Amino acid sequence: MINLFKGMKKYKIQVFIIIVFTFLKVIAELLLPTMMASIVNIGIRNNDTGYILKLSMFMLGISFAGMGADMYKSYLASWTSMSFVRDLRKKLFTKVQSMSPGEFDTTGTSSLITRTTNDITQIQNLSIMGLRMMIRAPLMAIGGIIMAVSKNPGLSSLILTVVLILAILIGIIASISIPLFKKMQVKVDNLNRVLRERLTGIRVIRAFNRTEYERDRFTDANGDLTANALKVNRIMASMFPIILLLLNLTTVALVWKGAGGIDAGNLEIGDLMAFIQYAMMILFSLVMMTMIFSMIPRASASAIRINEILDMETHIKDPEIVQTPDEKKGILEFKNVCFKYEGAEENALENISFESKPGEVTGIIGSTGSGKSTLINMIPRFFDPCGGSILVDGVDIRNMTQKDLRSRIGLVPQKAVLFTGTVRNNIVFGDKSIEESRVETSASISQSSDFIEAMSDKYDSEISQGGTNLSGGQKQRLSIARALAGKREIYIFDDSFSALDFKTDSALRSALKKETGKATVIIVTQRVNTIMDADRIIVLENGKIAGMGSHRELMKNNLVYRDIVLSQMSEEESA
Ligand code: ADP
Ligand code: MG
Repeated sequence: MINLFKGMKKYKIQVFIIIVFTFLKVIAELLLPTMMASIVNIGIRNNDTGYILKLSMFMLGISFAGMGADMYKSYLASWTSMSFVRDLRKKLFTKVQSMSPGEFDTTGTSSLITRTTNDITQIQNLSIMGLRMMIRAPLMAIGGIIMAVSKNPGLSSLILTVVLILAILIGIIASISIPLFKKMQVKVDNLNRVLRERLTGIRVIRAFNRTEYERDRFTDANGDLTANALKVNRIMASMFPIILLLLNLTTVALVWKGAGGIDAGNLEIGDLMAFIQYAMMILFSLVMMTMIFSMIPRASASAIRINEILDMETHIKDPEIVQTPDEKKGILEFKNVCFKYEGAEENALENISFESKPGEVTGIIGSTGSGKSTLINMIPRFFDPCGGSILVDGVDIRNMTQKDLRSRIGLVPQKAVLFTGTVRNNIVFGDKSIEESRVETSASISQSSDFIEAMSDKYDSEISQGGTNLSGGQKQRLSIARALAGKREIYIFDDSFSALDFKTDSALRSALKKETGKATVIIVTQRVNTIMDADRIIVLENGKIAGMGSHRELMKNNLVYRDIVLSQMSEEESA
């Protein structure tokens, strides 16, 4: 909590002004009842119209000044907390951006979204209320007590009793509502998770006729949240009438006791009126403080959740001493690399060693789950190895900046990812140095030109969220075009030709060969066809290299490879 509000320091001037203006407003409010008492006690009794008028005008002036101070303070409070929250959101977003895929998975996407939106809103609500009321309420209470006691110590004991009753009441309510408030954020999280899964899996849900099952899951999560919110609000709602009743009863008691005093001649009417007003001020401030305190549990639950992310140690960091390879060539070297997923029992990769030079194509083949994707995800440093090292142009990639490393790599992931925007935006992908001709060249190499030209707005055609208006093969080709557009030294294709027909696949590869002639190319595939003529084929099995060599060599002396080949083509074809 305290850690989180550190960011407020930046706004200390604003907070200071808010405090000053709150002071002014409270003083104005405290003065008014006393002045009114003077009007009643002196002005009306003596029938002194001049006095009444003078004091009234003065009161009016003070009221206006107080109003102005209050308005400015409220504006400033909103501005300050919104700015603070904006900074916080930015900090959280930056942090999430720097997280590695593994760290991302441990928290979960939907929880990250809730934390950046809903949880931050809780902090925002508390900080607005806090800045507006947290200073004002105690000041009012203390000021009210001083003024009340100075007016009439006898009646003050009555107020003390009421304060005591109120405190007990508030204590009871808080002890019930605070645990409920704390549960709220987890329930919002649940709801978001169910909703997200439901939306992304809508096709599967429909195809399997599981709409009702999913609806029940949603209804459960939704009902759970609603029930919790209702319970909290019922308690909070019952609080108000009870407190109002208490306030009104206090007024009655004060008038009752005060009337005796007026009768006996030791209390003025004006003073009683002022006293009642001070009593209300004191009690109202207490209620206000309660309201803020009731927000604190929910906000602090949120703050803890936000802090969890902010305090998360990102394991993949830029080195302190940065090494930059002398040249951009694209020599890639794996030296005895091993890797284990967090929480997994066995290593996903073990003893991986190979070297790939510019101008060479390295094919990686193996059954599903053999570790192909894991292997290539280590090159852009999405994960760090548990042993061994990966070198690019002779430098360990952990000693390079991530930016430098990734600027050398063109990666086409296994699952094509497109973004909302035009075809051109998806190919250029924010790189302003890419020229128009380059966009078209990379589209043509990736065999995308034909279908792009066929679209209504060509390169300006809109791609919907997640690329749903394109086929799987079209998406793959566009993501290949994106990787090519930047002209990199190392190209990695993770099963990127799987959704293409054989004809397009071979056309794409021969066009690619010309383009990537001087680059290092890594092609992951399940199809022997795709890598048959590669300079080096790595056969992966259970995360280990089961064989390495050219097609010819492997056919001769590697059983695993032979099996894969023979399952896909006849004896003659494979020769
Ligand atoms: P391939 O690409 O060859 O099909 P992967 O590299 O995706 O295989 O997976 C290799 C192994 O690592 C599999 O056994 C898989 O279960 C495991 N694995 C993949 N991703 C994760 C992950 N995020 N967390 C834990 N285990 C994983
Ligand atoms: Mg894979």
